[in-house]
Amino acid sequence: MPKPKFARADLKPGECLCDHCTAKCCRYFALPIEAPKIQKDFDYFRWYLIHGRVSIFVDGDTWYLMVHNDCDHLQEDHRCGIYQDRPQICRDYTTDDCEYDGDGQYDMLFECSEQIVEFAEAFLPQSPRAKVTGRTKKLSLPILSTVTEQHDKLC
Ligand code: SF4
Ligand code: SF4
Repeated sequence: MPKPKFARADLKPGECLCDHCTAKCCRYFALPIEAPKIQKDFDYFRWYLIHGRVSIFVDGDTWYLMVHNDCDHLQEDHRCGIYQDRPQICRDYTTDDCEYDGDGQYDMLFECSEQIVEFAEAFLPQSPRAKVTGRTKKLSLPILSTVTEQHDKLC
């Protein structure tokens, strides 16, 4: 994803970063989900991902289902149409670690079903790939850039 024209570092005192943003944080929601342990869990995740406009990310030990859809109250000028009455989660969100100049703050990202299938094959002890590599539980987790590169190949 291209970097925004205005750099976060150029923000002057009193300015708000959101004034330079296309409201990236108002275009999805994410819910924590149980970490997958067995093949059946991964198959559910594959099912989520074949629905489109859905992704799964991992932040620390927590897995999330992310649904990409604009908020009903997002206006054409990228401002909130119910600012005074917006939900508490919107009030609590800050620009500190927001996705303004990146895709998000997560350790892994799965954007298509092929990625989760590939991950499951490597992760599950009984899978052929895990036997070949000798891996049973611990994986060195791919970082976002790696997964994004994989996405280009897989999707
Ligand atoms: S909090 Fe971050 S992502 Fe959300 S509108 Fe402001 S700058 Fe954009
Ligand atoms: S209610 Fe307003 S701040 Fe919250 S997601 Fe919708 S547009 Fe964004």
